[in-house]
Amino acid sequence: MGRVKAVGAIERPVASPAGRPRSGAHPARATATHCPYCSLQCGMDVAVGDAGVEISGRPFPTNNGGLCVKGWTAGELLAHPERLTTPLMRPTAHDELRPCSWDDALDRVAAELVRCQERHGRDAVGVFGGGGLTNEKAYLLGKFARVALGTANVDYNGRFCMSSAAAASVRAFGMDRGMPFPLPDIAGADTILLVGTNVAETMPPAMQHFAEQRRRGGMLVVVDPRRTPTADAASLHLQIRPGSDLALANGMLHIAMKEGLVDTAFLAARTSGFADVRRVVESYWPDRVERLTGVPVAQVQAAVRALARPASAVILSGRGPEQQSKGTDTTLAWINLALALGQAGRPFAGFGTLTGQGNGQGGREHGLKADQLPGYRRIDDPAARAHVAALWGVRAADLPGPGRSAYELLDTLGHAGGVRALLVMGSNPAVSAPSAGHVRQRLGALDFLCVSDFFVSETARLAHVVLPSTQWAEEDGTVTNIEGRVILRTAAVSPPAGVRTDIATLNDLAERLGCSAGFVGGAREVFDELRRASAGGVADYAGITWERIQAEDGVFWPCPTQSHPGTPRLFLDRIATVDGRARFCPVTYRPPAEEPDDDFPLWLTTGRSMRHYQSGTQTRRVSALAEAEPSAYVEVHPQTARSLGGAEAQPVRLTTRRGTALVSARLTEAIRPDTLFAPFHWGGDASANLLTNPALDPTSKMPEFKVCAARLEPGSAAWAFARSCS
Ligand code: SF4
Repeated sequence: MGRVKAVGAIERPVASPAGRPRSGAHPARATATHCPYCSLQCGMDVAVGDAGVEISGRPFPTNNGGLCVKGWTAGELLAHPERLTTPLMRPTAHDELRPCSWDDALDRVAAELVRCQERHGRDAVGVFGGGGLTNEKAYLLGKFARVALGTANVDYNGRFCMSSAAAASVRAFGMDRGMPFPLPDIAGADTILLVGTNVAETMPPAMQHFAEQRRRGGMLVVVDPRRTPTADAASLHLQIRPGSDLALANGMLHIAMKEGLVDTAFLAARTSGFADVRRVVESYWPDRVERLTGVPVAQVQAAVRALARPASAVILSGRGPEQQSKGTDTTLAWINLALALGQAGRPFAGFGTLTGQGNGQGGREHGLKADQLPGYRRIDDPAARAHVAALWGVRAADLPGPGRSAYELLDTLGHAGGVRALLVMGSNPAVSAPSAGHVRQRLGALDFLCVSDFFVSETARLAHVVLPSTQWAEEDGTVTNIEGRVILRTAAVSPPAGVRTDIATLNDLAERLGCSAGFVGGAREVFDELRRASAGGVADYAGITWERIQAEDGVFWPCPTQSHPGTPRLFLDRIATVDGRARFCPVTYRPPAEEPDDDFPLWLTTGRSMRHYQSGTQTRRVSALAEAEPSAYVEVHPQTARSLGGAEAQPVRLTTRRGTALVSARLTEAIRPDTLFAPFHWGGDASANLLTNPALDPTSKMPEFKVCAARLEPGSAAWAFARSCS
């Protein structure tokens, strides 16, 4: 496999486990695998030589050899001095965590889970997974919850990632696969509309596809409250007020109707329900939409014309429109627009969502969501229950029903009638959940908490037992990437002594719970069972084998048989609804759950930065990343800072109705003066999620991470003095 340079924002040579760039060393062997972090799942070579572990990009369709700074430094974590290599246990609630044997740790976990269920019932034990778990782990964890524990309360942090887009896609298209076409297809679109996603910083190698689209004469339109590097690359930037996307989408459709840009032939041939949407959208007059969104009418008109007139256009959403208390409706509004313009169901056109986490997609396809069984089956569907129960060797009646969604589960921890003992695998909700101060209190109120992770995360610090798990380069397993392409991560190095895969941990725990029959074998055996479980479902993996994935460098689902080529492009012949037509869904604008007032006069929005990933458990430990971006900050418009007497890099107190975070101010004219932006990668009292609003979307149960009301105050005497003199 040829070596290629990283592309995107930063170019790097290979990196050693110690994080220092190396060159010239000749590795003994190189393994083709994928990055541990985001949904792009960039192809990389991991080589092990005398010099240690070296990482370089390799040709793969999403990254074409490029890696971002997170990818090329990921090797440092494999031999990190803080790596967990032995289980830890807290003998009593008042003791510190202490090293212990695997047998002692697993015996304690099993005994605590059994005791909890005997006292409080089966649903008193909860399971919380991560969107970075491989398909095999996600499948086995869901099965473990429903068969070995018999609890309904299993969910994962992917609920916080793209559940709104998933719910909207199921309603409109009859199925949810983040992107309905391969990522390189976007280079062939005449116009691309990106809504609430900052590709240039969160997945830099993907920008080459957008650059290629521009080079071919295409147009890029970006909707974002911030003038991000992605917006900087656009032909048109709509700097929207946070939480008002639904009004913008309806307003764009209103203009399209008035200007005769609706594709009536497409509506007649391939959709249903437009009349209801037309009635709703008629009241979204341009001046009303400008008032609601802050986007000038002329810009809205320009965006509509850019989408409607070319032969093909793509609308891609990110967390901006989705992480709202009306995220499902907001996403539906963008889908309505795409459908009305005839931009769906044909090459280089369509609606998609850019998944965030590495396997957010696969997690819910294989049963890690409270309302879903493997194969993207509904847990309340009798036929789905019968199929999965037969495979698992249990009675369908014994399978639990739908459980609590992620935040609902966390919110009730330790309460009577709630979850009293929790198993967390590959997630750090003490930092990544909304209203994190409240969630930390609830985690602390549990009778028993077990966490499986590579490091002692903020959540693991609260645990009674911590189990050390293998990292991505130490184990085999599949992941379903941003495009719906199933890929194989191949082990490149041996795990440290004392560390086990989560699959072995679940097998051992199931045996201790008296349920060993369905919990044997490693990742390959689990994948083969997963294929059978998914057969006939929406997300059908039956025809995908590890050998095929390796030979073809990924296979797109659905793929029902081994002779089936896989499905890179969905909906070309038929939409996946019962009648084969895309469904319009009328949706109306409503304000965010919380709006600015005298006490909290600014909008706060949160998101990711270039150098860190999710709760930062991994990236905050990578020296190059920690040095480049060591601490939490909030982006503030200089005009807003001046009104407070503030300046660059000064400490500030950022407060909402849920709490206060202590961060430093980063002044930038790239943000709206009425809006603040805080990345959420840090823990402790700098955590942005201390502030975020857990108001839930009624359909997807997505919390409103993206918008709440906030107050900014001086965090230092110097700033307070300057303010008093101003
Ligand atoms: Fe690629 Fe995402 Fe990994 Fe960066 S973090 S190298 S964009 S997969």
